[in-house]
Amino acid sequence: MRSTDRETLAHDLGNAVDELAADLVQALAGAIRIASVTPTYPGVAYDEHVGGEGRVSRLIAELLRGHDIEIDVFGEAVGRENCVAVLRGSGTGRSLILNGHVDVVPGGNAEEWKHGDPFSGAVEDGAVWGRGACDMKGGLIAQAFALLAVRRLGVELAGDLVLQAVVGEEVMEHTLGTSACIARGHGADAAVVGEPSAPPVPLAVVPVTPGVLRFVVHIEGRRTHPAMRGMTIHPGGDGFAIGVNAIDKAFQIYAALRLREEEWGLTKRHPLFLPGQFVIHPGVVVGSPRGQLDPFFIADQATLDYIVIYHPDEQVDDVRAEIEAVVTTAAHLDGWLREHPPRVEWRHHWPPSQVATDHPIVTATCLAHSAATGREAQTVGWSAVHDGTFLNQAGVPAISYGPGDVRWAHATDEHVAISELIAACKTYALLAVEWCGTA
Ligand SMILES: [Zn+2]
Repeated sequence: MRSTDRETLAHDLGNAVDELAADLVQALAGAIRIASVTPTYPGVAYDEHVGGEGRVSRLIAELLRGHDIEIDVFGEAVGRENCVAVLRGSGTGRSLILNGHVDVVPGGNAEEWKHGDPFSGAVEDGAVWGRGACDMKGGLIAQAFALLAVRRLGVELAGDLVLQAVVGEEVMEHTLGTSACIARGHGADAAVVGEPSAPPVPLAVVPVTPGVLRFVVHIEGRRTHPAMRGMTIHPGGDGFAIGVNAIDKAFQIYAALRLREEEWGLTKRHPLFLPGQFVIHPGVVVGSPRGQLDPFFIADQATLDYIVIYHPDEQVDDVRAEIEAVVTTAAHLDGWLREHPPRVEWRHHWPPSQVATDHPIVTATCLAHSAATGREAQTVGWSAVHDGTFLNQAGVPAISYGPGDVRWAHATDEHVAISELIAACKTYALLAVEWCGTA
């Protein structure tokens, strides 16, 4: 498209979005008020929470119904329905998916929130507040309104524009959400996931995410009376024969992993990531007498629960082998751990998501962003993961671009700036028309 044509289109679509802006903000506030916590989230009672996701999907369906948009609300489990909305093209252009998740993480302590409620949907200080504001009902609602803006413009697209509102993203249940949409035939030639793409700048274009692994190290000790501690740790005592504090041993493993993390900060480099973005993050540390939180024993068990954010060009087996070697080496330096080696248990894995920086969907999104916002697009790596991984695995090149800042995702007082919602909506709409073409 010639740049003057793009400017005219950006202007007309921008006006269409501006006319819809108040409705967009109200729709987001309404979506936030539905507490659609993933019912399978750890520590959450399924029966109390199932249904929220389906309500958000139906809210989106109602928003789009009656605008000559095909709606498919379907689920693999009752109350956990996805909504796919298709603005059908003439069939001669490229198709595009706009993807966002309807589920959110738990709200946490209500009193700590500025509005006394994680699900307030308050509109204040130029922002919309509440759990899911930026992660990622903001992006999802902006995507839905992009369909309405394209309709308002009155152009017929050449390729299909597909909105996927999906469940289960927060716990990687992509087989119920994003992958289920693909399996049902709602694919396309490329996809944009609306996750919040700041930092380092608002509305960055994100072609790459790292891999994420979770592992737990189990460490054994030997239980005895705490009065024996001196005998177990100082020279001249009977040492391991009496007791071994698993907490002390766990910190030796922790120290070795921390040192390796420092090394990663100095050695692992990727052109789209800031130095130090690849980490070995200790999330939960537990050490105690088995089955009791009682200090009147020497602790005989400890666990270290980690998240690894690894370089997207690395193979997961190599990362696992490196972590296990660090643990094994640290254990070899200790008489007790040599005889009682810590056990490394691997849990989740989100593979990296990667699209080349010169891929047409990256170029098109950058151009749409510049035309819609008047600001140069910045292409960066993101330090978390999203459903782009599973779209890429299904053969749909997927990037992310969306309103909000990840620092407010999963945080108290989560919010998203209204200016970013509107800007994102304009970019999505413009991208859709340019990518799909007009009939
Ligand atoms: Zn998210």
